Amino acid sequence: MRDSTLTVHHPAVAEDEFASLCVATHRASTIVFENAEAYATRGDRDLDSYSYGMHGTPTQRVLEAQITALEGGCKTVILPSGQAAVAVVFLSVLKPGDHVLIAETAYPPVNGLCRDFLSTLGISWSTYPPGSGPEIERFATASTRLIWMESPGSTTMEIEDVPAIVAYARRRGILTGIDNTWATPLLFKPLAHGVDFSMQALTKYPGGHSDILMGSVSVSDPALRKGLRDIMRMLGFHTAPDAISLALRGLETMALRIAHCGRVAGEIATEIAARYPVEVLSPILPDNPGHEIWKRDFAGASGLFSVVLPEAWEERLAIALDGLEIFAIGASWGGTRSLIAPMAISGHRTTPDPRNERIILRLSIGIEDPEDLRTDLRRFFERLARDETS
Ligand SMILES: *Cc1c(COP(=O)(O)O)cnc(C)c1O
Repeated sequence: MRDSTLTVHHPAVAEDEFASLCVATHRASTIVFENAEAYATRGDRDLDSYSYGMHGTPTQRVLEAQITALEGGCKTVILPSGQAAVAVVFLSVLKPGDHVLIAETAYPPVNGLCRDFLSTLGISWSTYPPGSGPEIERFATASTRLIWMESPGSTTMEIEDVPAIVAYARRRGILTGIDNTWATPLLFKPLAHGVDFSMQALTKYPGGHSDILMGSVSVSDPALRKGLRDIMRMLGFHTAPDAISLALRGLETMALRIAHCGRVAGEIATEIAARYPVEVLSPILPDNPGHEIWKRDFAGASGLFSVVLPEAWEERLAIALDGLEIFAIGASWGGTRSLIAPMAISGHRTTPDPRNERIILRLSIGIEDPEDLRTDLRRFFERLARDETS
């Protein structure tokens, strides 16, 4: 071979005695085939095999298998974001004429997907109020094909009675899916409760370091996985192996991070509720709706909760936020850094509630020293309450 050929042919080296605790990052667009026959029959390969980089490399198969092991289903697909994971679930089961019933408290872009995209394809949608449980029956229609849950709900943190909703859906032959991002399968296992699609934004706790976006969907029925993979192929969804290797790394410390963040968040939420004239929204607090169901179904809490401010404090919110030294202001969550994000929810909610018009602060507790977080929050609330206390 001449030099320019040598520059593109990587010499084979022995790997016999090489063993590492790390998952190798296999990158590929092209997959090469042993012979002409193998290439000609590549379409017969099963969904776990390899034929083109778009459908995954061994790095992705490791993440799929690891999430499947945690979720307890039979297969998992990996998507380039949490929102993409929701979208492929909807697109894989909904056809023109179908209706999808989504939680009013679903991650707001799910509303947008239904309103601005699916409805133009002839797929109708509506929402059900948080905490509906067996009452879900009142909101389904004759053409409901999918019920989409999120528990706890976005920002307002209501817990859903998943077993009750699944029992109704099963009787009617309706599929169910859930956004399990807050709990992760460490704290709640939707598939064990009969949910058909368990979706996570791996962007949050599994990634864990605020540097990647990724999503997953796990199922117990191989036919549903085939439907997801078909949509992913047609729409050309691909997740970069380099990002997947970061998710695999994040996953290794996820149990420790969630245990820590959940404990500290619980302590801080309880202190805030006791000390200030605010409403704290977290399923761990006994006076929150859904607390009993949370105790029944979940193995614990993660580090995200919300605080509804009194109206009189809202005008000082910007100044108080600007004074924060440890908490960063920003969306997304589940990373090592503590975050605070002021949320306005009125545009997404249909069930009247006075707090829909309030600003709701969403706090994500990170892994900084809890005393530094407490000091930062004490100063924050002092600034907000300034007029009343001076
Ligand atoms: C962040 C988030 C998503 C979307 O995930 P992305 O990776 O940011 O697209 C979906 N659901 C919940 C509950 C989330 O917090």
